[in-house]
Amino acid sequence: MNNFWKRLQYKQNLSIISKAVNDLTRKNLIPEYTKSYVIDNIPKMAYNRTIDKIRYLKCPNCNIQLPSRMLMHQHLKYCNNVEKNLKDNETIVTDAKVDF
Ligand SMILES: [Zn+2]
Repeated sequence: MNNFWKRLQYKQNLSIISKAVNDLTRKNLIPEYTKSYVIDNIPKMAYNRTIDKIRYLKCPNCNIQLPSRMLMHQHLKYCNNVEKNLKDNETIVTDAKVDF
């Protein structure tokens, strides 16, 4: 891949990942203490995905789809805790993307 396409890919990835990160922080779907770490790593995540394409990973708990393994890892720290703290008659409600 030449530099032009690599740069283009990087910019696209940057916008996809930034959007996902904005969404996660806005809806508080990652723990408070990892937010700045995640935001600092947006360029790195975007850069790593110029080599292989972005693949979406689905959270096994709430079905939200995220474009990076690192984001999913941070989200699971939150999601697994929510699961543990739920009482028997509670369910998690999120507006995750659904594939048909
Ligand atoms: Zn989740």
